[in-house]
Amino acid sequence: MSDVSINDIVALCKRRGFIFTGSEIYGGLGGAYDYGPYGVELMKNIRNAWWNAMIYSRDDVEGLDAALISNRLLWKYSGHEGSFSDPLVECKKCGARMRQDKMKDPTKCDNCGSTEITEPRAYQLMMGLSIGATADGEINAYLRPETATTTYVNFKNVLDAKPHKLPFGIAQIGKAFRNEISPRGFVFRMREFEQAEMQYFVNPSEDEKYFEYWKKTRLDWWINVLGIPAEKLRFLPHVKLAHYAKAAVDIEYLFPDGFDEVEGVHNRQDFDLGSHTKSQDEFKINANVMENKDSTTKLAYSDPQSGDSFIPYVIETAMGVNRAMLAVMHNAYTVEDLGDGKTRTVLKLKPWLSPVKAAVIPLARNVPELLDTAQKIENDLRKLSIGRIELENSGNIGKNYRRHDEIGTPVCITVDHQTIEDGTVTLRHRDTMAQERIKVADVPNRVLQIVNGL
Ligand code: ATP
Repeated sequence: MSDVSINDIVALCKRRGFIFTGSEIYGGLGGAYDYGPYGVELMKNIRNAWWNAMIYSRDDVEGLDAALISNRLLWKYSGHEGSFSDPLVECKKCGARMRQDKMKDPTKCDNCGSTEITEPRAYQLMMGLSIGATADGEINAYLRPETATTTYVNFKNVLDAKPHKLPFGIAQIGKAFRNEISPRGFVFRMREFEQAEMQYFVNPSEDEKYFEYWKKTRLDWWINVLGIPAEKLRFLPHVKLAHYAKAAVDIEYLFPDGFDEVEGVHNRQDFDLGSHTKSQDEFKINANVMENKDSTTKLAYSDPQSGDSFIPYVIETAMGVNRAMLAVMHNAYTVEDLGDGKTRTVLKLKPWLSPVKAAVIPLARNVPELLDTAQKIENDLRKLSIGRIELENSGNIGKNYRRHDEIGTPVCITVDHQTIEDGTVTLRHRDTMAQERIKVADVPNRVLQIVNGL
């Protein structure tokens, strides 16, 4: 277990502008958080790192960005309307409502310890909407509770527009909404969150091979790209499988209270395309699907060689972006002892994830020569398009270093009087605090190297 608590991360997030409580000035809203100036950058960098690995580095995965609101029928045939629920129990003594499968002890109230608990009832997790002037309060649409279903129903659109042979995938990053019974763990369990999911369509004979392939590929990404040490990650295979799943495993991160899920890798067989396809009778669908008389499109694949038409299997990778950010921040949060009772807090992020890529700091405030050079360096760095560059004109170098250590800026560039004389600046590295003196003209290349981890 780590000695960094979630409260340490919550405090840093508020203090330095990563994450704020949603609707805070009106008392908040359970399960909703707002991302501040550095939180949006870190989230964006995690998204970009995922998109880069899942799409830009491959030939076999296409991107998609589907609507957040969708026709009721999507969620009827996906099975969500009927069964996307959690077991809700209520304490008869204190009235607390809890998700039974997440209670510390299902016979005792988490809040008051009473053993007078109601029988569980299925609690629908989808948020229904009443859209259009004629709806009059009737639920005719839903906010999506996952990105996956909106990918399945676009299978044919994507394949027609960008033909692929199997296997190929479709990836999305976007918001999902679940009416969670008890949001908890800061951004770990929210009612509005973000997923990065990829559905990989395979020939049914190759499902096991690609399930193993994606398990390994995703775990490697957590280690190499997010920088989480292997010993803080593990696979947890699902013992009790959902009716449609052939195999499922969670990737878990070691949070302060123990290992918990950050991503899932699932073999969903032909359940999803089989559920949403038109003319289900024409195909040999292995999974147990609901009869569909509403779909207007066959979601099948025609083998170019044999001419056979069949429903591919799906291997899915489903990551929570907010949970990834929480794990990344928790892993990177370090308090170092500097001696003499002094400490420093450093966010040792991989540099490509850092919200601010470099800070330029004139040693004294409002000295025109120093400020001009600092602004020139800032402009040169901005031309690299590597993300946010900040100029600090407060004249308090110690305070600036402390702030940039805490938000994880990999390098600070200090402009001092020697800069005016010989055109050199000091580069100060976040993790080692080591300083090097380099020419102003060399700053962009050096920063580029650092941000790319070279
Ligand atoms: P859980 O068992 O924790 O409710 P799940 O197995 O239902 O999650 P999936 O539907 O597989 O989760 O979603 C994929 C990922 O989305 C999860 O691994 C998690 O990282 C993230 N996720 C799911 N629910 C939430 C939530 N309420 N808040 C934040 N992230 C979530």
